[in-house]
Amino acid sequence: MTFIPKAGKEDYAKAKAYRPITLSNFLLKGLERVVQWYILEYVITGPLERQHAYTKGRSCDSALSTFVNDVEYAIYNNKHLLAISLDCSGAFDCIQFESAARSMRLKGVPENIVVWYDNLLKGRRVHAEVQGQRTHIIPHRGSPQGGVLSPLIWNLIMDGLLSTFKRGPVKVIGYADDLLIYIVGKSTDTMAEMIQSELKRVTEWGSVNGLSFNPTKTSMVWYTRNRNLTPPNIYMEGVEIKPKATLKYLGVEIHSSLSWTPHVTERLNKCKFLLSKCRNLVSRTWGLSPQKMEWIYKSVIRPKLAYGAVVWAHNITKVIDKKLNGIQRLAMLPITQPLRSTPTAGLEAMLGWMPLSLYIEEAGMMTYLRNKELVKPGWDGVGRQKSCVGHLGTWRSKEEITCTVTYPRERRVSQYVWVEKPKRSSLWTHPIALYTDASKEKDNVGYSWIASIGDYVIGEATMTAKDISVYKGKMLAIKEALSWLRDHIEISRRNVIYCDSKSVVQVLNGCLAKDELTWDTLKLLREVNQVAHTSVQWVKGHSGIVGNEVVDMLAKNGALEAANISDVKPHMPATQREVKKLMHDHFLREWQLRWETLKSCRISKLFYPKIREDKSIICLAIKKLQALAQSVTGHGLFKKHIKQWNYIEDYQCSLCGEADEDSWHLWEWCPKLKKEREVIQRRIDTGLNRDLGILQLMNSEKIKSLRARNESLLSTI
Ligand SMILES: [Zn+2]
Repeated sequence: MTFIPKAGKEDYAKAKAYRPITLSNFLLKGLERVVQWYILEYVITGPLERQHAYTKGRSCDSALSTFVNDVEYAIYNNKHLLAISLDCSGAFDCIQFESAARSMRLKGVPENIVVWYDNLLKGRRVHAEVQGQRTHIIPHRGSPQGGVLSPLIWNLIMDGLLSTFKRGPVKVIGYADDLLIYIVGKSTDTMAEMIQSELKRVTEWGSVNGLSFNPTKTSMVWYTRNRNLTPPNIYMEGVEIKPKATLKYLGVEIHSSLSWTPHVTERLNKCKFLLSKCRNLVSRTWGLSPQKMEWIYKSVIRPKLAYGAVVWAHNITKVIDKKLNGIQRLAMLPITQPLRSTPTAGLEAMLGWMPLSLYIEEAGMMTYLRNKELVKPGWDGVGRQKSCVGHLGTWRSKEEITCTVTYPRERRVSQYVWVEKPKRSSLWTHPIALYTDASKEKDNVGYSWIASIGDYVIGEATMTAKDISVYKGKMLAIKEALSWLRDHIEISRRNVIYCDSKSVVQVLNGCLAKDELTWDTLKLLREVNQVAHTSVQWVKGHSGIVGNEVVDMLAKNGALEAANISDVKPHMPATQREVKKLMHDHFLREWQLRWETLKSCRISKLFYPKIREDKSIICLAIKKLQALAQSVTGHGLFKKHIKQWNYIEDYQCSLCGEADEDSWHLWEWCPKLKKEREVIQRRIDTGLNRDLGILQLMNSEKIKSLRARNESLLSTI
């Protein structure tokens, strides 16, 4: 047992300020894992009701979404919702051994496992060492924190309580030891009465199972439009629970009027604090590299901001948007060190960072898509006033607009298919070689396979499909080849299927299917392998292997011919990955639109007419990024810019005198730089990054001296 101090505690002399973690033998952990798999696959089929923690496919987000959906329903339909969040003190360390065994038996866990786990709990000897002092105890209650099975057992115990809420108006959401009970209604008195009796039941259940709920840590919120509501008192174990304005549920502040400003402000302040700490790590001459700063921002700070986005990002107000912009700017400043006037959007275009509000919206949308099947709204999402639309309703209509593909969405598949290959045999004669390939022409994909023994072709087929990726086409080709093989199988031969896509081969040689097509193909592969040894192998494309060249040609012809056929085979269902890509593309387009309609950033828009995300310039040093930022935004030592804050009469180009001097003129037009420009253009044509090209021109002798002159000009005024 080891003790990890909890963050942000005042007094570390108290035992409660530490989290005890059990470090058990890896053999035990392995055994626990096997038991866990067994229970999840054979005993508890399907997720536990109303429990969102440690459950496949569920998360904080699904719990939040379920609750907020009901709050929206109540508020938008002029009803009230009373929510009480219960704090279960010391959940894991108070579990009684009897209740663990009881709930396992109730769920139908085999007796030998129940007895084994009971012995495990009872027979533990816990050793701890703190500052050289060793001690050991034999615990009488609690399950090991950090134990593989502990969360599952906890869920089973909790299920004893959660499942009693099945019927009746009072609803419950469980997230590990977090318990939220709520009721929707019109009459506050009835609501209070009902919730009161449920509270009594919960505390009674707790005392039977050795768990206590702390009334002083219990929070209660009335969600209502009626500001003059005088709600009746509610008591828990004789203590009155005072209503609050916001409920902090799973880290999201849900205000009684469903305003998200308090939550976002709190998040923003936290992130601002974090960013200012990071800023101290960077200076112009030393410190973290821009690449590392980007990493910290993108993988620590940004996800922190986007947490819970599914319930609040559907209505980001102008005020919030502005604040989010500010945070992103704060993150960009240390690595680009621009002049103060430089617009945020210009820097975003240069670095390829999506505006934060868009990023968060996308995160919300993705969570919605992930949880779509789990969180059933139960209402159409539109309130009495048509302007009030709940988060699920907003996401749904957005999905309908953006996912223009009408073909069916695929059900979630993520399953293992074990393909066992028969042993090698000495009876094998020549193998059957099956070459597969796919080719795309506009929207049409042709896919083919060809089977041969030695030089003899014994079978072939070409098919077409619409609106699918080449990857899917190649997978389809293998699937078709396999189903032919199934009907023409010869035990005396082994079969080799060739494909020139490494990723397809890799997926089929693994055993995890993440979409239906892969799943079907893997199942076929397994079926065929039960009779004759069949493997999928990679072959280098366009390398002169006859079978592969032929099948490539067949597929190409198939794709071309498909254009003449009006009724090409039905569409394939879209996988999660494809939907994700569609969504991301949508948000990129949205960014592009914002960029084009922006009033400022004249010069940046000339440099970057098209927004791009994949930028490699982040690996440059800060000094170079700074120079680039000055050039591409125009906010640098150019006369046109200096003019904006200091009066200078002449702001014609110091080199040619023909036009205003700004960075775009120098990069694109200035006749005096023609030679340099041509050299750099040639380098760009042969593969030099355009941004680096810009930097090279700006570092040419002529521009260097021009900027030096401007700098002295600046100091004289
Ligand atoms: Zn010029």
